[in-house]
Amino acid sequence: METKVIKINRNQPDKALLKEAGQLLAKGALVAFPTETVYGLGGDGLKEDVAARIYAAKGRPSDNPLILHIAELSDMEKLAVDIPELAYRLAEQFWPGPLTMILKKAEVVPYATTGGLDTVAIRMPSDEIAREIIRASGTYIAAPSANLSGRPSPTKAEHVIEDLSGRIEMIVDGGDSDIGLESSIIDLSGEVPMILRPGYITKEDFERIVAEVEYDSAVLATKPQESIVAKAPGMKYRHYAPKGQITIVEGDNSAVIAKINALVEEQEAKGIRTAVLCAEETKAQYRCNYVYSLGSLKSEKEIAAHLFAALRFFDTEQLEVIYSESFEGTKLARAIMNRLRKAAGYQTLQV
Ligand code: AMP
Ligand code: MG
Repeated sequence: METKVIKINRNQPDKALLKEAGQLLAKGALVAFPTETVYGLGGDGLKEDVAARIYAAKGRPSDNPLILHIAELSDMEKLAVDIPELAYRLAEQFWPGPLTMILKKAEVVPYATTGGLDTVAIRMPSDEIAREIIRASGTYIAAPSANLSGRPSPTKAEHVIEDLSGRIEMIVDGGDSDIGLESSIIDLSGEVPMILRPGYITKEDFERIVAEVEYDSAVLATKPQESIVAKAPGMKYRHYAPKGQITIVEGDNSAVIAKINALVEEQEAKGIRTAVLCAEETKAQYRCNYVYSLGSLKSEKEIAAHLFAALRFFDTEQLEVIYSESFEGTKLARAIMNRLRKAAGYQTLQV
């Protein structure tokens, strides 16, 4: 299949092109488009056969549920039932934006989209290109991250082209993702609101709206989680894994730098392609052929936005061993470390 790539200028979006993308979706085609979190692989979320095509294009197991993307708040009521009042309060505060809410599903939503669950994941993106395309489609758009299963989520159109060219009808290029990490997911279908995936909207943010909110045990994991019963089928799959092995080195700053330099020297002496993943502040202190800075520690947002591109870089350069600093902290750092720990298969070294 030939994949059409169209470029949209954010300052002057070509409405006719966005309409073309929406019309393709309305016909059951697959269109990847930018959102403020990561690029999404969109398809009509109400059609079973389209959901099946999304899974096939990604090479993703079909019990991994998809998030439905909407353009108006009122759409939530078409897709969910028994909506708690809290959902409206969260929507008022965080929509449009990087928040996904899990609610009880309405009958129109096929089980093919929810991975067989009686709940549905809903998000209203703030990205204007995304919302315009959803609006033009006249339906609700199931859109998982537009990467091949097991690869890091795409934060640039080039990442999508790399993974999905020839597998979908269209890719809409809207430049780099602003946030660069997938949406925060909060489950409102149970007694206590549960954070299933940390993201740009943090536990602290939720706590300003709701008294009681908890992390799902899988979010707090520091070990591989075969033993943990996944709340959603998707949570059990390995994610974001580069081909090389990442080890997160934790401890006092100067001890970490000394340890990483010693390990790099050992590996490079054996001819192993080795990299360091670090912050801008410490970059100059590493002796390694590949030193990748995620940005300044002064900006968690910058670090988050560059993480997935770094993981892809390691694959492109065929790096075999990667030593990473820890970016532990509060707020967004929890989301960053959640992705980095998964990418490392939870391998850490204390110094
Ligand atoms: P992605 O589409 O790649 O951003 O990831 C979608 C993720 O959303 C899945 O892997 C699940 O973890 C989560 N999800 C989607 N629908 C549900 C649901 N009904 N219940 C719980 N989690 C869900
Ligand atoms: Mg994904």
